[in-house]
Amino acid sequence: MYYPNTIMKKRCGHYCRICGSLKPNEAFSGKGHRTHVCKKCARLPKEKREEIECKDEIFNYLRQSHISDKNVSRLRKLSVSPNEQIAALAGIVLDVAEIKPYKKRRLKELVKKRRDILHKLEETGLILAHGW
Ligand SMILES: [Zn+2]
Repeated sequence: MYYPNTIMKKRCGHYCRICGSLKPNEAFSGKGHRTHVCKKCARLPKEKREEIECKDEIFNYLRQSHISDKNVSRLRKLSVSPNEQIAALAGIVLDVAEIKPYKKRRLKELVKKRRDILHKLEETGLILAHGW
């Protein structure tokens, strides 16, 4: 009998949510399986892991079709993070959300009104999450 799904699952392992790479099951500890963090990333200092997770979170807000009020209050918290990079990224996305919380026609609006923000999106790579 051939069970393609089982085989695929076994072969493909899991995605680590920190480094983003697809790793075999052996690369995860029992706890790592549940939290989706590979053994290598589990050894990173907590601040480093949190930085990666916060960045992912911020980039994801731009992928969404709408940045909600709840997202905005979370971004406010992140924008005062002691981690300068996180604070800067969150600040940019906050600006974006203030001008155009909905993704539709957002970039057109920024081209017209706030090229400075558009430039920041380009500099930080946030534009890649947003997409053109
Ligand atoms: Zn990893």
